[in-house]
Amino acid sequence: MSIEEFIEELTKLKIKPTEKELKDLERYCDLLIEYNKKFNLTAIKTKEDIYLKHFYDSLTLAKAVDLTKNIKVLDIGTGAGFPGLVLKIFYPNLEITLLDSNHKKIMFLEEVIKELDLKNIYCLNSRAENLKDTYREYFDIVTSRAVSHLRILSELSIPYLKVNGKLIAMKSSYEQEIMESTGILKKLDSKIKEIITFKLPIEESNRTLIVIEKEKETNQIYPRSYDKIVKSKF
Ligand code: SAM
Repeated sequence: MSIEEFIEELTKLKIKPTEKELKDLERYCDLLIEYNKKFNLTAIKTKEDIYLKHFYDSLTLAKAVDLTKNIKVLDIGTGAGFPGLVLKIFYPNLEITLLDSNHKKIMFLEEVIKELDLKNIYCLNSRAENLKDTYREYFDIVTSRAVSHLRILSELSIPYLKVNGKLIAMKSSYEQEIMESTGILKKLDSKIKEIITFKLPIEESNRTLIVIEKEKETNQIYPRSYDKIVKSKF
């Protein structure tokens, strides 16, 4: 996707990028390409692919939630910053926490944040199941792209949402995962509110945003240890 195509697609998401946002994004892209040669942060390596499959794709979260509000967002398994760091560039009003268990990815994110002088954005080098003593009932939105089965992701994220907060899982396919998540969603007092499907421009691959709302405070037994989460069946 060229920069012109990127800008055109953003207008359909009601995003009008400023010069500064585009410049910050370009610098982020350059740093990603440079660091990727040393640290293998992402399989997507060309500028055109980065703009389409990382930058544009991250911003499609705007289809599911009003990002112009002053809300707290957690991005679980952010990798090289998708979608969380891209959201921060376009929505400086958001308080964003980027979480990843991989140290080198967090080091890269800290470098980009410093270079772009972004404020009110935090990096956590930890596993999602280990946040329970610090971030319980804290975030308005938890999002995650391409991290784990919805059944596992739900338990790793819903405990950190406020009541009425939303988990927005960014996926390609979804039917099977939703079927296998009904049991745990009930236990986590949460319901699927919306499923938004669309195609990525140009390459036309399927995308889905699964929007899950938390209705009550989460039982303190969740999240369980990762082993238990994975072993317990639907
Ligand atoms: N969200 C990014 C994207 O879409 O490009 C990265 C996706 S990558 C396939 C999955 C990432 O999740 C990896 O960087 C991995 O280190 C991280 N991850 C997996 N399980 C995790 C957990 N339990 N807690 C924190 N990070 C996790």
